[in-house]
Amino acid sequence: MTEVITYKKAIEEILKGLKDEEFQRGLQTSVGNAEGKHIKTLEAYPGLRELAKMVEDAKQKVINNIDYYIDLAVESLKKINAEPYVASDATEAREVVGRIVGKGKIVIFSKSMVAEELGLQRHLEKLGNEVWETDTGEFLIRLAGTKPMHTTAPAIHLSRGRIVKLLREKVGIKLPANASHEEIVAAIRGFLREKMVKADVGISGANALAADTGSIVLVENESNIRLVTSLPPVHIAIVGIEKIYPSLTIALAAAIVQAAWAGLYPPTYLNVISGPSSTADIERKRVYGAHGPQKVYVILVDNGRRGAARHSVLKGQLKCIKCGRCQWECPVWQQTANLWGGPVYGGPMGMGWTAITLGIKEASELSMLCLNCGRCDQVCPVHVPLTSIIHWLKQQYMGEQ
Ligand code: SF4
Repeated sequence: MTEVITYKKAIEEILKGLKDEEFQRGLQTSVGNAEGKHIKTLEAYPGLRELAKMVEDAKQKVINNIDYYIDLAVESLKKINAEPYVASDATEAREVVGRIVGKGKIVIFSKSMVAEELGLQRHLEKLGNEVWETDTGEFLIRLAGTKPMHTTAPAIHLSRGRIVKLLREKVGIKLPANASHEEIVAAIRGFLREKMVKADVGISGANALAADTGSIVLVENESNIRLVTSLPPVHIAIVGIEKIYPSLTIALAAAIVQAAWAGLYPPTYLNVISGPSSTADIERKRVYGAHGPQKVYVILVDNGRRGAARHSVLKGQLKCIKCGRCQWECPVWQQTANLWGGPVYGGPMGMGWTAITLGIKEASELSMLCLNCGRCDQVCPVHVPLTSIIHWLKQQYMGEQ
């Protein structure tokens, strides 16, 4: 389902991106704006480093006992009346979600890299559903027909002028060519709000899932996640199994650490979802579906992760909390964004994730573009051994020649 990008095609796209003045302007502006943001945050809030260490330790514990924690998470989800599924690969995950959604529905997504990994949006469209991304950046890249160019900032390569043109041509939103940032955001909000109100199903990712309570934790600034997970009668959360944490306390810590290293601290919203909405205010009888969803489904996605947990090198990548800091710091990524990477993930973290979710062969050739400077290792909050993983991938590629 997910398009496999060959090395030749990737190089062609990178060369095109290097020559594309608009792409480079957008990328360089974003890189400049993101530079050192987490350093300022860490100077102001030094306790975050301690929190990151706790998150790293918890992640290591879960990776070493992945089957136990998946089972525990499933049991906890059942206890809070959520419906869990464990999908072994992308095909199974798409089938499960397709069955839940059906056809002819309005489906709204909040940003989810795992949903991208599964090609879920296109799958649901093919089944005959109307699908909308509600994260501003994701909405824009979908209109542009490109992949996300950064883990937490997908539309960094699109200029204001290009966005105005896209909105007019793709969804009929008419704005003056020199529309301000505020005018663009207001127009997108108005357009998407109508979809949100009418939506039958909301699909989110998760920053973390607490194995002890079954709670999903989601961090955000836009407030679209709140709406996607509470307005429609059905909520489906797509969760990579590496997002499982032993407890709700540490799951909350993981979301906070992710926001801090992404340069978004303090996060505007931190959402905790523990099953469907309900009330027992009438004669103490519990009724599901009060103001929020009646049904909450949680799809735990393996897609190579369980195998990686048993792999001596790739297991290191599972510690990743997808904050995207290594991408901002990488001198290659600063020129190419996610054009350097697989069909979904890119940059230093992208090599490992592509190897896990798509295949070692797909990632190993692309890893040859790494300069081995080690800046990614230095900034990672949870010490993912990025250069070791990339070095190993290079060895696999050389061994194949
Ligand atoms: S590898 Fe580390 S720095 Fe890169 S996205 Fe993952 S957690 Fe963040």
